[in-house]
Amino acid sequence: MFDKITLIGIGLIGSSIARAVKLKDLAKTIAITTRKSETLEEARALGLGDIYTLDAAEAVAGADLVILCTPVGAYEEVMKQIGGALAPGAILSDVGSVKGFVLKVMKPYVAEGVHLIPGHPIAGTEHSGPSAGFADLFVGRWCILTPEKSADPVAVDRLTSFWGALGSNVECMDANHHDLTLAITSHVPHLIAYNIVGTVSDLEADTQSEVIKFSASGFRDFTRIAASDPIMWRDVFLTNRDAVLEMLGRFLEDLSRLQRAVRVGDGPAMQELFTRTRAIRRSIITAGQETAAPDFGRPHGTTGNAIVQPEDVTPFAVREHGGGEDA
Ligand code: NAP
Repeated sequence: MFDKITLIGIGLIGSSIARAVKLKDLAKTIAITTRKSETLEEARALGLGDIYTLDAAEAVAGADLVILCTPVGAYEEVMKQIGGALAPGAILSDVGSVKGFVLKVMKPYVAEGVHLIPGHPIAGTEHSGPSAGFADLFVGRWCILTPEKSADPVAVDRLTSFWGALGSNVECMDANHHDLTLAITSHVPHLIAYNIVGTVSDLEADTQSEVIKFSASGFRDFTRIAASDPIMWRDVFLTNRDAVLEMLGRFLEDLSRLQRAVRVGDGPAMQELFTRTRAIRRSIITAGQETAAPDFGRPHGTTGNAIVQPEDVTPFAVREHGGGEDA
């Protein structure tokens, strides 16, 4: 499909792409570049590519597809290095969890003739690094592309076919629409998970209580989401601030309503809400974005070298991670 694919950043997502590209034979050459030599050596030891270099400009030379797979906060620095080295006609894409910011930060460095088509695979786990990836991470998951209206339709088609070959369903949308949608389906749920796990850890320290020892599925499942990469998520909240605040505002209004229902003992209101949310869970399963397998903390199987996370029973069962959703 491509002569040379360059992956910049070779963590969970980059290494999963590398594995899938190899498995499906989608490129003659895979070039890998990253910031730290230890990470590059880990990728080499795993046999993820054909060319390994710490020089990002060298890695992108002659590539017809370049995908940024670093945290979005690193994009500007990466673009400064590669902007002038991108081959005319190359497709430049990424996998970042935020799209408006990405378009803004990448665009100034993109020369005429290079096709900038940002992307976001809605697939991931809470694990990081080259060893965490697996070839079928993207199978049956959505990948959202956010090309500008002026983007070359042939290049968009090529990238759509690429993600299709990795097993994803592809949809194009406006970057801002993506950011608002992901704010509520992924970013705010992560914020809630980080917050509740933080509250519990403070409580445990303050009161020497045994919340961690006796953690039931609700809290335990939040800890899975809250174990997600701190740098990546810091960058998500730094770069999708407006959409997150908009959705957080709505969430807080609804939480106040629920708080009132608990305070006044409004059983019917609670039952109505919990029935509605259960139906949402079922519709996610019906849509094939989750399985109905019970969890209780047991691994259900392995794919590549990563455990496929099973059922998530939290009310915010957004599988950014665990064989499901992303950031
Ligand atoms: P990860 O496992 O932590 O890997 C990040 C990679 O980026 C590492 O190889 C790291 O290498 C490299 N890197 C970091 N800073 C860099 C810099 N300044 N220059 C060059 N390389 C740098 O992260 P990930 O989960 O794959 O996430 C990567 C991207 O995918 C993020 O933008 C995230 O928003 C997006 N995403 C994540 C998920 C998910 O579930 N995790 C899902 C969908 C999309 P070094 O060790 O060399 O620093």
